[in-house]
Amino acid sequence: MRQVNELTDLIAHFPGIGPRQARRVVQFLLSSGSAFREKLARLIIEVGQSASPCAICWRFDDLRGNKICSICSNESRDRDLLMVVEKDIDIEGIESSGAYRGLYFVLGGLMTMTERKSARIVRTRELITHIQNNETSEVIWALSTTPEGDYTAREIMKEINTVKPNVTTTLLGRGLSVGAEIEYADSETLRSALKNRA
Ligand SMILES: [Zn+2]
Repeated sequence: MRQVNELTDLIAHFPGIGPRQARRVVQFLLSSGSAFREKLARLIIEVGQSASPCAICWRFDDLRGNKICSICSNESRDRDLLMVVEKDIDIEGIESSGAYRGLYFVLGGLMTMTERKSARIVRTRELITHIQNNETSEVIWALSTTPEGDYTAREIMKEINTVKPNVTTTLLGRGLSVGAEIEYADSETLRSALKNRA
């Protein structure tokens, strides 16, 4: 059936979902009631209409006609600190730990050492421009503790050093185990990783 195939192809684009899992999701949708499918379809449309990327940090938020998200527009946040994360969901974990009062920047992806494919979605230029034009004095790297995460931080750090050499760069303390994703770290781990950044 054409729709089944098309839907399977679309779902296979989701992060962490391969063709086999995509087929299972489609099977699940077929066996769910029509009310469930209609609600899902409606919410997919609505979320696209209400959430847009913040012009400063690129986090998706309900901007309510503004260009800037609730974190970037919050006067009480510490504007010297800029934490660089890979994706929106990483911010949620760090916010709920309550340990961080600075600003964020969502990079959008990681650079890979072998293929430059992912470089297209990594907002390297935007990050460097942001640091140049703002009062950032410390950049905190909160990327996955994987070879790609380390490589991405190293490569972008080199560029930051050439445009704004007085910026301090720190990495979250490695209370986070190797291979850890910020997304899955608990609040206590994030609090101590932030305290032990170096
Ligand atoms: Zn923002």
